Amino acid sequence: MTEIQIPDASVVVLIGAAGAGKSTFAAKHFPPDAVLSSDQLRAAIAGDAADQSATRRAFTLLHRALDRRLAAGLVTVVDATNVTAPARRTIRRAAARHRVPVIAIVLDFPDEVVLERNAERTERTVPEHVVTRHLEALASTLAGGVLEGEGFAQIIRLRSAEDADRAVVRLVP
Ligand code: ATP
Ligand code: MG
Repeated sequence: MTEIQIPDASVVVLIGAAGAGKSTFAAKHFPPDAVLSSDQLRAAIAGDAADQSATRRAFTLLHRALDRRLAAGLVTVVDATNVTAPARRTIRRAAARHRVPVIAIVLDFPDEVVLERNAERTERTVPEHVVTRHLEALASTLAGGVLEGEGFAQIIRLRSAEDADRAVVRLVP
């Protein structure tokens, strides 16, 4: 069992390809109001979680909500793929403005697990080439210490679906 200890005023950045299980993980371990989800914001704006034309506005809202929550000292989970450095940098900068630690939780599962999960989704399947692109971006993020060099307070790398299923999250004051 992996116990993940999270300071109760911090930002948790979930990192993983579409279909890896970020939203499921967030729902299992965090209260719903702590989770800022790019998909939910797309749905709120455009009526469709998959509407890519709403991405920019969704992230603008996400970053604004993140800023407000951090100002209020509330633990916040960013549920988006976060497989690119610029996506993670924006979050780290917001956290730095509020002097809040940033914790990365990486869903680093074998490609076939993620592709299968995505293919078997009922609500919304992401095109396979998009998932493959995320998996490649994640692999290059994890190679050569890129993520380690970004200044996270903690990086929790869950390397298998079993590891993730066994993880427990504890908020510590
Ligand atoms: P996206 O980036 O597209 O929002 P995601 O990373 O949030 O994807 P989820 O929606 O959480 O992924 O999960 C994708 C699929 O995998 C869903 O069908 C979900 O039921 C399944 N899944 C997620 N986590 C688990 C798990 N721990 N065990 C079994 N199936 C899972
Ligand atoms: Mg999701």
